[in-house]
Order: sequence, then C-alpha cells, then structure tokens
Amino acid sequence: MIYLDNNATTALAPEVLEAMLPFFREHYGNASSAHALARLPEGALIRAREQIAGLLGAQPAEIVFNSGGTEGINHAFRAAVETFPAKRHVVITAVEHSAVQAVAEWLKRQGIEVTTVGVDEDGQLDLAELEAAIREDTALVSAMAANNETGVILPTVEIGKLAKARGALFHVDAVQAVGKMPIDVAAWGVDLLSLSAHKFHGPKGVGALFIRRGVRLKPFMIGGQQERGRRGGTENVPGIVGLGAAAELARSADLALVARLRDTFEEAVLRAIPEVRIHGGSSLRVPNTSSMGFRGVEGEALLLKLSDRNICVSTGSACTTGQKEPSHVLRAMRVPLDHAQGTLRFSLSRETTESEMAHVASLLPALVAELRSLRPMGRRGRALRGGPDPCA
Ligand code: PLP
Repeated sequence: MIYLDNNATTALAPEVLEAMLPFFREHYGNASSAHALARLPEGALIRAREQIAGLLGAQPAEIVFNSGGTEGINHAFRAAVETFPAKRHVVITAVEHSAVQAVAEWLKRQGIEVTTVGVDEDGQLDLAELEAAIREDTALVSAMAANNETGVILPTVEIGKLAKARGALFHVDAVQAVGKMPIDVAAWGVDLLSLSAHKFHGPKGVGALFIRRGVRLKPFMIGGQQERGRRGGTENVPGIVGLGAAAELARSADLALVARLRDTFEEAVLRAIPEVRIHGGSSLRVPNTSSMGFRGVEGEALLLKLSDRNICVSTGSACTTGQKEPSHVLRAMRVPLDHAQGTLRFSLSRETTESEMAHVASLLPALVAELRSLRPMGRRGRALRGGPDPCA
C-alpha cells in the first residue's frame, strides 16, 4: 500500500501508541479523582500540555484539550460571538475548511454577518480586501495557516496585525500546519488556534484549542469544570498522552526530506505529462502537499485506477470526494473547469519513501493517457462558475 492521503489522516506513530497504551491498561484513573490512581493520569495531562505548548510557543495554561479541529473551530467562533454580543460580524477566507464554512453559515442563520475574503489564482489571500473587510464590530477574523487541498500557506503574521488593528480576535485553523511548518503563536499574533492530533501521527478524536492568556471566552461545554472550566467532560487521557507524544515527534520531523520528495515528484510528472497544473505551485506551500490538475481527466476515475494499484490519494478534501462539482478551494482560485475536474491531491508524510514516489510518477503517464483517450479534450481554459458548495 502506498499511502498518499496524509492530509485526510496519518498513521499512528508506533512511539505514540506505546506512550498511550499504559493509560488504557493500568493508569485508567480519572485525572480529577483524589486517590492514588489519579496521580499518573493527572501528571500525564500536565506533561502533554507542556508538549503542545512547546510546539506552538505557548504557555501550558493556554492549551485547552478537546476532540479535534472541528470542535476547536466551533469553540472559537461560537464563543467569540457569544462573549462579545455587541460585535455582530466575522471574517473568514474563501479557502477555509468546510468545518469553518459550516459554522460561519450557522452564525449567519443566527443573524451574524459573515464576510468572505477571496484569494487569487495562486491561492494567496487578498490582504487589501481583508483590511477593508475588518470592521469595528468584527468579533473574529479566522484564517487557516495552511490549506488542506493545496498546501498553500496564508500570511498569518499580516492577517494577525490587521485583526489586532481593529480589535478583533484572530483565530488560526492550524490543523494542516502542525508538523509541517513551524508555528509561533506569539509571532503570529494569534488569540485562538485549533489543531488536531490525527493529522500529525497522533490518535483520532483528540486535539487542542490554544486560547491566549487574557482572552476570556465563554466556555464551550455546559457542565464540567475540566480544563479550568473552558471545556468540561472527563479528559481523554490516553488520547491526550498520544497528542503530546505526537507533538514531540512533530518537533523533530525532517521537513526538508518531505519537500524534496514532493518537488522531485512534481518535476517528474510535469516532464512526463502535458497539460498538468500544480494548484498553488508558485505560492509558499507546506512541504507535503501536491494538488495536481490533469486536464481532460476525471479525477475520480484516476483515483480509482491508482486505488486498484494500492495507491491511496484524494480528489480534493475528503468531504468533496465522490462529488462532481470541483471543490470550493479550486473555484475560489478560478482554476479552469477541465483542470479542476481532473485534480488529485497527493499528500506525503515523513514515512513516504523515494521509491514510492518514483513508482507513482512512473505509473501516472499511462493512466492519464488512457483516461484522456476515453474523453476528448474540451475547449481550453473554461472558467469555473460558482456553485453550491458540496461541503456545506
Ligand atoms: N481544518 C482543516 C484545515 C482540516 O483539514 C480538517 C480536517 O480535515 C479540520 C479542520 C477538521 O479537523 P478534525 O478532523 O480534527 O475535526
């Protein structure tokens, strides 16, 4: 099996599993209990909090454990507007994950105004448009650190400055950035940041929300005093231990090697196959992601041909798989329809090898040629029409 769908989820690292197992077997106590069986779980939570804080450049008290990215995003958005009821406006980007888009849609139904800032053909945010969008009554500005489909990195430092200038909270969806690029909440001027363990070789269903010291948000859960009252519910101790261990591993990941494998792969494909586009290829990207549009090919058909050969890729973000409509990210980047429909996302990890990438690159020319022969090429460069978002 060649697994190139690491932006959907990653394999649990063996060291992470080892760290977690004792907390399923022997140290199963509730970290809040007063007796001896609580001591190790309680200590493990302290250590994991330090490990996550270390990865982000944060203080341990600023870390709130939760169930992952979707919860962190819900917490940030819903608490921001609830805490500041006089502020009835939020700003997001056009390339945010469906979790952000969905909560923004929900806020609209509650009467909150949402402004969506666009990107250019390279997936870069229009900072002038962003500046114009932020108002005195903007409760929250939310932008992802790295895009899940293209890997394009957004300019968090600049976005943070613009948000601060208007007194808005700044939330970063860093789910696709952790383990793939350095994160520094102080330098970025972040108030809130979401992350999820399963995207960086940790377990599924556990993550954290960074809440800057001094930012007082309403709690997300009603009931439960855990996480200093910010997120109630008995802590998922094995999961949190796994999150901490994965954070430790992420700090030592060799990103240069992953970047070299990705870049060599892209060069080989571009050399061997005509009319291929690398979405966001001229932007700064996280090193593991390559989103390629093969003109005149049905992405789903190419995915299935690769899957038949035990190669796992994605046609876009997981939630759009199986949908004919190109993703909202490719539409926002105005990718021509016949390239967008033939888009595959290859997402590598530190476990990906040179021979795996060479094998995939060697298979693609014949598979693409076969699919193109079945589907005569249409007119060049048809612009995408806006349409319903398949993730919404
Ligand atoms: N944000 C981004 C950018 C993502 O890629 C994902 C998952 O695909 C999420 C948020 C949601 O994270 P989780 O699966 O932990 O809920």
